[in-house]
Amino acid sequence: MGTQSETGHRDTETPRKKFLLCVSVSLWLIPLCVLCTLCVVAAQTTQAPSTKLPPMSYVCPMPGDEEVIEDKPGRCRKCGMELVPARLDSVWTCATRPLVVVESKPGRCPVDGTPLVQVTASVTWTCADRPSTNALQPGTCPDGTPMVKKYAARAHGNHNPQHGGQFLMAPDNWHHIEGAYLPGGVFRLYVYDDFTKPLPLAQMRQVSARIVTNQRFDAATRATKEISAVPLVRKGRYLEAQIGKLPLPAQMTAKVTFKPKDPEHVFDFAFEKFSKEPVADPRLTSATPVEQPSTPRPAPAPIPDAAVSTSSSGVDPALVPVPIPETVPEMLTQLRTRTEQIKTFIDRGAFASIYVPAFQAKDLALALDERTSQLSGDRRKIMEPAVARLVRSAYLLDAFGDLGNKQQIVDAFRLFSDAVKDIEASFAQGQPR
Ligand SMILES: [Zn+2]
Ligand SMILES: [Zn+2]
Repeated sequence: MGTQSETGHRDTETPRKKFLLCVSVSLWLIPLCVLCTLCVVAAQTTQAPSTKLPPMSYVCPMPGDEEVIEDKPGRCRKCGMELVPARLDSVWTCATRPLVVVESKPGRCPVDGTPLVQVTASVTWTCADRPSTNALQPGTCPDGTPMVKKYAARAHGNHNPQHGGQFLMAPDNWHHIEGAYLPGGVFRLYVYDDFTKPLPLAQMRQVSARIVTNQRFDAATRATKEISAVPLVRKGRYLEAQIGKLPLPAQMTAKVTFKPKDPEHVFDFAFEKFSKEPVADPRLTSATPVEQPSTPRPAPAPIPDAAVSTSSSGVDPALVPVPIPETVPEMLTQLRTRTEQIKTFIDRGAFASIYVPAFQAKDLALALDERTSQLSGDRRKIMEPAVARLVRSAYLLDAFGDLGNKQQIVDAFRLFSDAVKDIEASFAQGQPR
């Protein structure tokens, strides 16, 4: 029993109107990966006449005011801050790896074969040796080379479901959720942040929710009486409940509290059919079926020889991203596997593929970094700088991988594997579970 609180809404704005946020945090995280994986794109783009720049917009730098996008300078109509110039573009990218791949039109993700999704990104131009450069138009770098086009994620720039469900933004303008109704009669709830990244596990643990399949609104008392509701139980990185097979179209309402004492948010779903994970192009992933995160996943096997040689599509099926496991030992096992994959790619000269295991290792290290509360103070002193070094060297591996300079790659890999060793050492022996 409870009154109807704020309701989540579907984002139907045009991409240009979609919420966007200046990328103070992500800018330093993204530049190298984007910069280099986009070399191909950028090369193609720079050959075209450079007259087609995305239009200049003026946006509010205040988080939460991402919907303020004006076409001339001035002050934010919400908070009064001075607007800052930005070029925003609507591009197509892999749902699972936003902006690692950027295309100008729909198609298939070259990494995992799923359909590309449309996101809003901010566009700047930068120099390979000065990634902090963020010019609003193309130009020439101090070393005489042309600047490279770079895309950065914007908060609320990606409102696409990641698992074939229905995607909604929370009234707090920060969380996003996706509800999927699976053929087995299971409702599954995913929770994302403002960049549509899965909520970190620590925050996910604080989420409580239930799914209501039948409720009645009493106009007289303005109260909603729930007739049938099932608690959603956390299973790894999502919440789910068995609600049975309802006649389609099926209507249901998720009532979600993101943190204890936060208000309850209400999200209404209407499923015309059961939800399906995005289907990968079978030519790309016949060796690797789409991940079904319902069972604990084993650590990926070391890549077979055949997988390393580039397939006709240019994509190694072993590179399909793997979700982060939940326990520390599983994470460490995966980190080791990814490290071995990088080494194999280096040995075989498959430099352009290095970024995938490197970024997955980086994600694993960041997930492990959330578990440092298990460690003694001494071990944390080793762990934290090691994670920072791993993240930095992962970006270096990506950058140098695309440049194809083996010596630079080997040097970056040395930094990387030293960091992995330190991370392993900090968790070695006697950590809880
Ligand atoms: Zn503002
Ligand atoms: Zn949003």
